[in-house]
Amino acid sequence: MDIEDLAERILSGERRALARGITLVESGRADHRSMARDLIDRLRCAGREAMRIGLSGTPGVGKSTFIESFGMMLVAQGLRVAVLAVDPSSARSGGSILGDKTRMERLSRHPGAFIRPSPSQTHLGGVARRTREAIDLCEAAGFDVVLIETVGVGQSETVVAEMSDLFMLLLAPAGGDELQGVKRGIMEAADMILVNKADGDLKSAATRTCADYAGALRLLRKRAQDPEGFPKALTVSAALENGLDSAWAEMRALQAWRRENGHFARRRAEQARFWFEAEVREGLLARLRREPVKGAMAAFAARVEAGEITAAAAADELLATYLGESLPA
Ligand code: GDP
Repeated sequence: MDIEDLAERILSGERRALARGITLVESGRADHRSMARDLIDRLRCAGREAMRIGLSGTPGVGKSTFIESFGMMLVAQGLRVAVLAVDPSSARSGGSILGDKTRMERLSRHPGAFIRPSPSQTHLGGVARRTREAIDLCEAAGFDVVLIETVGVGQSETVVAEMSDLFMLLLAPAGGDELQGVKRGIMEAADMILVNKADGDLKSAATRTCADYAGALRLLRKRAQDPEGFPKALTVSAALENGLDSAWAEMRALQAWRRENGHFARRRAEQARFWFEAEVREGLLARLRREPVKGAMAAFAARVEAGEITAAAAADELLATYLGESLPA
């Protein structure tokens, strides 16, 4: 594969090249990894930047409906929109439940949009790296907005929050006592809460839920990266396409304020550091699962079980042998 040619075609916005590039970064093959690294290095030089918007919400809150309506609004304004998904459950089901093109029919047919189903991977670390690299590719291909969707289960929200400029939490109207259902961590990560389905019979419940969350957000935190009045909770109706323009206006206002005040660059820098540290941890864990460490661990474990050596001493010895040796003096 000619990586230089692929990079040029991605930079010129060719969608098939972008899709091929993403397939390359998703591959686990060692030769593909080094080609992917080469590709990303070439694309980074272009220095293009998209607004990265993370979107999380439990199944059924209306993520795909929202992305379709919101995405259609953006492409109608002449913006180019890419949609990626982080789907930890695809590892279990063996297939993708997110990013499925049939869920976003109008958007997937629009020439200004690019929708990529989530890769099925065995662990979140792998999905995270591939998604980050796919974001890089979409930015290089000149997309203005990259939407990264995830179901709000387990750690996937954290993963998406750590690769987004703006992290949105999509909620459905609820009875008053359901506030606790949202984990504190995800509330803290949210830059904006959107209460969907604010239409028909659900409208007043949505308004109430929105007020509850607005109150909870105010109590929960005041971060340096939030201007006065943020984080906000808003009501939207993805189905009726209500409130999407105000949500977009709020996102742009927040993004603009953060840019002016240095928080945008700082957040990206902190995210780069977060992913570096995560990659180091992943790399170390991967080495533990490979020979010769794997065999040595089994041997030490047998001695620990037999009471010949303590757990702590065995761990120290193993780490000193296998980690100490390969580190530069
Ligand atoms: P996802 O699982 O989060 O992607 O949710 P979907 O977008 O598939 O929507 C789940 C259900 O909620 C579907 O039956 C949608 O038609 C419905 N839905 C989505 N958005 C709205 C909305 O704004 N208002 C109403 N009333 N229903 C909606």
